[in-house]
Amino acid sequence: MLQSQLPVVNKILGSLPRSDYQRLLPHLELVELSAGDVLGEPGETLRHVYFPSDALLSFLNLVDGKNVFAVALTGRDGMFGAAAALGSPLSPYRALVLGSGSALRMKTKLFVQEFRSNEVLRDAVLRYVLALTLQISESAACNRFHLIEERLARWLLMMRDRFSSGQFHITHEMMGHLLGVRRVGVTNAAQSLKQRALIDYSRGAIDIVDGPGLKEAACSCYRKVEGRHG
Ligand SMILES: [Zn+2]
Repeated sequence: MLQSQLPVVNKILGSLPRSDYQRLLPHLELVELSAGDVLGEPGETLRHVYFPSDALLSFLNLVDGKNVFAVALTGRDGMFGAAAALGSPLSPYRALVLGSGSALRMKTKLFVQEFRSNEVLRDAVLRYVLALTLQISESAACNRFHLIEERLARWLLMMRDRFSSGQFHITHEMMGHLLGVRRVGVTNAAQSLKQRALIDYSRGAIDIVDGPGLKEAACSCYRKVEGRHG
């Protein structure tokens, strides 16, 4: 599909006036991202910034260089590389593709130029950075106070909202990164949600079968942030 035929589904790019989007289009490259792809490592200079269309990204923190911990999810609601606009060309975390899909990418240098000169883009990026900051701070509180099972329900709902589907693949390892717990904790939480007929889960394939029920099972953090994405 040609880029010009792509519906603009990314929220940041979608906020641009059509004339701005058309002007930037030759500089936006359509890329297909596969689950497991790494778009940037902590401290790495980023040549491109990414605007997911239907890909789902997770931002991971490496604690002591080895323990991986997910701090946030981003899909069509945001981007990867916003730190460049705030003065840092370095990736603050590992950006891992969690759900395969497409994204538009732009050279970091051009993105920074555009951010400085284009007020609409600047507002959209800053709104996203605020939402991301809130997501990260709320996740920190969530990890401290809420139970594994209700936290898993929250992450699954967040994934569904950003992925436009209630069916996706996620490994036990990745769920462990999201929850900050070992494998057995992940297994117990996923089994419990399955027994309650809220999800179906087999070999990494998750199907949310009862969305309202899963929402009830999720901690209050999900309802608190609901509506900030889309
Ligand atoms: Zn919570």
